[in-house]
Amino acid sequence: MRIVTTQAVVDPAVCTGCRTCEKVCPTESIRVGDNKKAFANRETCTGCGNCESRCPVMAIKLVALSERRVIEVDWTKAPRDKVVALCRKARFNPEAVVCFCTGTRAREVAAAILLGANTPEEVSRATGIRTGCSVECIQPILRLLTAAGVTLGKAPGWQWYGLTPTNWDLPESVVKNPAYRKFYFEADRKLMERVIDAKGGA
Ligand code: SF4
Ligand code: SF4
Repeated sequence: MRIVTTQAVVDPAVCTGCRTCEKVCPTESIRVGDNKKAFANRETCTGCGNCESRCPVMAIKLVALSERRVIEVDWTKAPRDKVVALCRKARFNPEAVVCFCTGTRAREVAAAILLGANTPEEVSRATGIRTGCSVECIQPILRLLTAAGVTLGKAPGWQWYGLTPTNWDLPESVVKNPAYRKFYFEADRKLMERVIDAKGGA
């Protein structure tokens, strides 16, 4: 969940139209128009501050909203069995917190995807994830989208970082190689499978 209390506002007198803000916005909420000035979408801006902190001429300010806005997805709106299956396919326990900045759980990302979110930016707009540090949670998002069969296109701007291989992506020739025994790949897999399959609220 993201509680939005501020939004980005651009000072057109200062903006140079460099497009840096476009490249770092996790929700594709800021655009440079034909007038070569940036403008933030009030409906989708989460007030994450990425653009504000990276604008080279400090043209962006985060302005307090008169009323806070809450971004969250009700994961029970998606079929429960499909939510659980998607999380497990991506090697997450459905209750695992996958974004510590916003407290978003794997089941919420899975539900957002099952309800139609097809890109990391759409997942962010639906759940509020990736609006804090906007870095750590990109891997879970990409893993869940890929597990759902989404073919990821080119990331917008400077977003995303590619999928990091997990233990399960290692070839068996590596996992079972005695020379790598000290890495405990198989033991880690078994332990993680128990965590993934642990029953909770989902
Ligand atoms: S980063 Fe700053 S100067 Fe560049 S387009 Fe955005 S608001 Fe304008
Ligand atoms: S980077 Fe964050 S603060 Fe800036 S427009 Fe996008 S959502 Fe709003």
